[in-house]
Amino acid sequence: MVETRIVPAAGGAGVRLRRGDRLRVIDPQGGQSGDLVAYSLDGRERLSNGRTFDYAGKIHLSTGDVLWSDRSSPMLTIVADDVGRHDFLYGACTVEMYHREYGVVGYHPNCADNLDAALRELGVEPGPHQTAFNLFMIADVVEGGRLLIRPPTCRAGDAIVFRAERDRAAAISSCPASGCNGGAPPRPLAFEVLPAEAPAA
Ligand SMILES: [Zn+2]
Repeated sequence: MVETRIVPAAGGAGVRLRRGDRLRVIDPQGGQSGDLVAYSLDGRERLSNGRTFDYAGKIHLSTGDVLWSDRSSPMLTIVADDVGRHDFLYGACTVEMYHREYGVVGYHPNCADNLDAALRELGVEPGPHQTAFNLFMIADVVEGGRLLIRPPTCRAGDAIVFRAERDRAAAISSCPASGCNGGAPPRPLAFEVLPAEAPAA
Protein backbone atom coordinates (compact mmCIF):
# COMPACT_ATOMS: atom_id res chain seq x y z
CA MET A 1 0.00 0.00 0.00
CA VAL A 2 1.55 3.28 -1.11
CA GLU A 3 1.07 6.15 1.32
CA THR A 4 -0.04 9.46 -0.17
CA ARG A 5 1.37 12.45 1.71
CA ILE A 6 -0.02 15.96 1.47
CA VAL A 7 2.03 19.10 0.93
CA PRO A 8 -0.19 21.70 2.65
CA ALA A 9 -1.28 24.74 0.65
CA ALA A 10 1.59 27.27 0.83
CA GLY A 11 3.55 24.75 2.92
CA GLY A 12 6.29 22.20 2.38
CA ALA A 13 7.25 18.59 3.03
CA GLY A 14 10.38 16.49 2.68
CA VAL A 15 11.17 12.88 1.95
CA ARG A 16 14.23 10.63 1.75
CA LEU A 17 14.56 8.57 -1.38
CA ARG A 18 16.64 5.47 -1.92
CA ARG A 19 18.29 4.86 -5.24
CA GLY A 20 15.65 3.58 -7.64
CA ASP A 21 12.69 4.87 -5.66
CA ARG A 22 10.19 6.82 -7.70
CA LEU A 23 8.71 10.04 -6.36
CA ARG A 24 5.27 10.81 -7.76
CA VAL A 25 4.12 14.41 -7.24
CA ILE A 26 0.44 15.02 -7.79
CA ASP A 27 -1.66 18.15 -8.24
CA PRO A 28 -4.91 16.97 -6.60
CA GLN A 29 -7.05 19.97 -7.55
CA GLY A 30 -5.34 21.23 -10.71
CA GLY A 31 -3.68 24.52 -11.60
CA GLN A 32 -1.21 24.56 -8.70
CA SER A 33 2.53 25.02 -9.16
CA GLY A 34 5.17 23.75 -6.76
CA ASP A 35 8.89 23.71 -6.13
CA LEU A 36 11.07 20.63 -5.88
CA VAL A 37 14.68 20.41 -4.70
CA ALA A 38 16.91 17.39 -4.25
CA TYR A 39 20.15 17.01 -2.30
CA SER A 40 22.65 14.30 -1.60
CA LEU A 41 22.15 13.03 1.95
CA ASP A 42 25.33 14.82 3.11
CA GLY A 43 24.01 18.10 1.70
CA ARG A 44 27.07 18.62 -0.52
CA GLU A 45 25.34 18.12 -3.88
CA ARG A 46 22.16 19.71 -5.01
CA LEU A 47 19.98 20.08 -8.05
CA SER A 48 21.43 22.50 -10.62
CA ASN A 49 19.44 24.10 -13.42
CA GLY A 50 22.63 25.29 -15.13
CA ARG A 51 24.22 21.82 -15.24
CA THR A 52 20.90 20.33 -16.36
CA PHE A 53 20.51 22.84 -19.23
CA ASP A 54 24.11 22.14 -20.20
CA TYR A 55 23.71 18.37 -20.44
CA ALA A 56 20.12 18.32 -21.71
CA GLY A 57 20.66 21.13 -24.22
CA LYS A 58 17.21 22.54 -23.54
CA ILE A 59 15.19 24.33 -20.88
CA HIS A 60 11.93 22.36 -21.14
CA LEU A 61 12.34 19.06 -19.32
CA SER A 62 9.92 16.15 -19.31
CA THR A 63 9.79 12.36 -19.58
CA GLY A 64 13.21 10.82 -20.17
CA ASP A 65 15.18 13.88 -19.07
CA VAL A 66 17.71 13.80 -16.22
CA LEU A 67 18.01 16.55 -13.61
CA TRP A 68 21.71 16.95 -12.72
CA SER A 69 23.53 18.12 -9.62
CA ASP A 70 25.98 20.99 -9.29
CA ARG A 71 28.72 18.31 -9.12
CA SER A 72 27.58 16.65 -12.36
CA SER A 73 25.86 13.62 -10.86
CA PRO A 74 22.45 12.51 -12.05
CA MET A 75 19.96 13.36 -9.31
CA LEU A 76 16.51 12.52 -10.63
CA THR A 77 15.18 11.23 -13.94
CA ILE A 78 11.68 12.16 -15.06
CA VAL A 79 10.04 8.83 -15.89
CA ALA A 80 6.43 9.94 -16.40
CA ASP A 81 4.79 13.31 -16.84
CA ASP A 82 1.09 14.03 -17.40
CA VAL A 83 1.70 17.74 -17.96
CA GLY A 84 4.88 18.17 -20.02
CA ARG A 85 5.70 21.73 -18.96
CA HIS A 86 7.62 22.82 -15.88
CA ASP A 87 10.00 25.68 -15.17
CA PHE A 88 13.66 25.47 -14.17
CA LEU A 89 14.56 29.15 -14.65
CA TYR A 90 13.02 30.90 -11.65
CA GLY A 91 14.49 30.80 -8.18
CA ALA A 92 12.26 29.61 -5.35
CA CYS A 93 10.12 32.49 -4.10
CA THR A 94 11.42 34.24 -0.98
CA VAL A 95 9.95 36.69 1.50
CA GLU A 96 11.96 39.43 -0.27
CA MET A 97 10.26 38.51 -3.56
CA TYR A 98 6.84 39.10 -1.97
CA HIS A 99 8.05 42.47 -0.71
CA ARG A 100 9.31 43.53 -4.15
CA GLU A 101 6.78 41.97 -6.52
CA TYR A 102 3.59 41.81 -4.43
CA GLY A 103 4.01 44.79 -2.10
CA VAL A 104 3.69 42.59 0.97
CA VAL A 105 4.81 44.08 4.28
CA GLY A 106 6.18 41.69 6.89
CA TYR A 107 6.34 37.95 6.61
CA HIS A 108 4.77 35.96 3.78
CA PRO A 109 4.91 32.17 3.34
CA ASN A 110 7.41 31.30 0.60
CA CYS A 111 8.91 28.29 -1.13
CA ALA A 112 12.50 28.96 -0.04
CA ASP A 113 11.58 28.82 3.66
CA ASN A 114 9.30 25.82 3.09
CA LEU A 115 12.05 23.90 1.29
CA ASP A 116 14.72 24.82 3.85
CA ALA A 117 12.52 23.74 6.78
CA ALA A 118 11.64 20.44 5.10
CA LEU A 119 15.30 19.69 4.36
CA ARG A 120 16.37 20.49 7.93
CA GLU A 121 13.74 18.05 9.19
CA LEU A 122 15.55 15.43 7.10
CA GLY A 123 18.89 16.40 8.64
CA VAL A 124 20.17 18.23 5.54
CA GLU A 125 21.53 21.77 5.87
CA PRO A 126 20.38 23.51 2.68
CA GLY A 127 22.85 26.40 2.46
CA PRO A 128 22.11 29.39 0.19
CA HIS A 129 18.87 29.40 -1.74
CA GLN A 130 18.96 27.47 -4.95
CA THR A 131 16.89 27.24 -8.10
CA ALA A 132 14.16 24.69 -7.60
CA PHE A 133 12.55 22.59 -10.31
CA ASN A 134 9.25 24.45 -10.54
CA LEU A 135 6.64 21.75 -10.95
CA PHE A 136 3.73 22.53 -13.28
CA MET A 137 4.85 26.18 -13.61
CA ILE A 138 4.90 27.62 -17.12
CA ALA A 139 7.29 30.44 -18.03
CA ASP A 140 7.69 31.17 -21.72
CA VAL A 141 10.67 33.00 -23.17
CA VAL A 142 9.14 35.59 -25.48
CA GLU A 143 10.38 38.42 -27.70
CA GLY A 144 13.45 40.18 -26.39
CA GLY A 145 14.15 37.30 -24.01
CA ARG A 146 11.44 38.46 -21.63
CA LEU A 147 9.78 35.86 -19.45
CA LEU A 148 6.02 35.43 -19.50
CA ILE A 149 4.47 33.38 -16.69
CA ARG A 150 1.29 31.63 -17.77
CA PRO A 151 -1.25 29.71 -15.66
CA PRO A 152 -0.39 26.05 -15.11
CA THR A 153 -2.23 23.70 -17.47
CA CYS A 154 -2.28 20.74 -15.05
CA ARG A 155 -5.67 19.27 -14.29
CA ALA A 156 -6.87 17.60 -11.10
CA GLY A 157 -4.95 14.39 -10.54
CA ASP A 158 -2.12 15.13 -12.98
CA ALA A 159 1.28 13.95 -11.79
CA ILE A 160 4.99 13.84 -12.59
CA VAL A 161 7.19 10.92 -11.56
CA PHE A 162 10.93 11.11 -10.82
CA ARG A 163 13.31 8.21 -10.28
CA ALA A 164 16.09 8.79 -7.74
CA GLU A 165 19.46 8.01 -9.33
CA ARG A 166 21.22 7.91 -5.95
CA ASP A 167 20.04 8.08 -2.32
CA ARG A 168 18.61 11.61 -2.06
CA ALA A 169 16.75 14.02 0.16
CA ALA A 170 13.94 15.83 -1.62
CA ALA A 171 11.67 18.67 -0.57
CA ILE A 172 8.48 19.95 -2.17
CA SER A 173 6.68 23.26 -1.63
CA SER A 174 3.18 24.32 -2.67
CA CYS A 175 3.98 27.73 -4.15
CA PRO A 176 2.07 30.56 -2.41
CA ALA A 177 2.61 32.98 -5.34
CA SER A 178 -0.76 33.61 -7.02
CA GLY A 179 1.09 34.78 -10.14
CA CYS A 180 2.32 31.21 -10.71
CA ASN A 181 -1.09 29.68 -10.03
CA GLY A 182 -3.31 31.49 -12.50
CA GLY A 183 -4.23 34.09 -9.88
CA ALA A 184 -5.76 31.50 -7.55
CA PRO A 185 -4.90 31.12 -3.88
CA PRO A 186 -2.48 28.27 -3.10
CA ARG A 187 -3.80 24.73 -2.90
CA PRO A 188 -2.19 21.54 -1.60
CA LEU A 189 0.00 19.18 -3.58
CA ALA A 190 0.52 15.51 -2.76
CA PHE A 191 3.23 12.92 -3.27
CA GLU A 192 3.91 9.21 -3.08
CA VAL A 193 7.10 7.19 -2.96
CA LEU A 194 6.99 4.06 -5.07
CA PRO A 195 9.82 1.83 -3.80
CA ALA A 196 12.45 0.51 -6.16
CA GLU A 197 11.61 -2.92 -7.43
CA ALA A 198 13.57 -5.67 -5.73
CA PRO A 199 16.62 -6.56 -7.82
CA ALA A 200 16.32 -9.64 -9.95
CA ALA A 201 17.71 -12.76 -8.26
ZN1 LIG B 1 7.03 29.74 -4.62
